[in-house]
Amino acid sequence: MKSNGTAALFDEAAYETTFEATVIDSRQDLVAFDRTLFYPAGGGQPGDTGFITYADGSRARVVETRRDETDRLLIWHRLDGDVESLPTGKIAINGAVDWGVRYPNMRMHTCLHLLCSLIDAPVTGCSMGQGKGRLDFDLPEMTMSKDEIADSLNAMIARQINVETRLMQPDQYDVALELVRNRYALPPRSAQFVKMIEVRGVDIQPCGGTHVRSTLEIGKIVCEKIDKKGRQNRRIVLRLID
Ligand SMILES: [Zn+2]
Repeated sequence: MKSNGTAALFDEAAYETTFEATVIDSRQDLVAFDRTLFYPAGGGQPGDTGFITYADGSRARVVETRRDETDRLLIWHRLDGDVESLPTGKIAINGAVDWGVRYPNMRMHTCLHLLCSLIDAPVTGCSMGQGKGRLDFDLPEMTMSKDEIADSLNAMIARQINVETRLMQPDQYDVALELVRNRYALPPRSAQFVKMIEVRGVDIQPCGGTHVRSTLEIGKIVCEKIDKKGRQNRRIVLRLID
């Protein structure tokens, strides 16, 4: 089924957790709305979890959020248990994102932008969740120690640097792409706009994820390990403290 897709409310309202929406499609245990605050898995950031509440007060748990494989503007919410085929356009819901899961992901995601700025090498992989995060770099020699990485990151965090989100027109996409060293979190090309993330004076790149407004919100971090993954690859693992 061809749809107009799901309005990605999280792009402009990363700190909001509740929203109203209308069902536009459903199948088995998946449901799609005309708009959502649930972030769909992508760029190493896990898809959001939470709850939806129907007009009659019944609730369903959202266990996973992801984009449709072919229609990248359509966002599916996987519910705990099958949903009957819901009539589209009529069913209104309230959604609530699990902030206890999402906020640490926003903090770690922003911290990984800082890590990018610290290591001058292409990123080949990215993952985060449960207060941890890692980046893989195409890097034959690692010159910094775990403590040096943690100290540099904690110093940047303490500088309370603003993290700004700007929405660019799609015709500026190719210009934006030239700024990208790390193509692990590109927003979908067909979107109405391209989301640019700038950590003032530190890092700028198009990124589809959700981020905190100031580096200070990341809080203290530790560098847990630097792993050698093959001759050319170094994996750096960070953890939020608290
Ligand atoms: Zn990002």
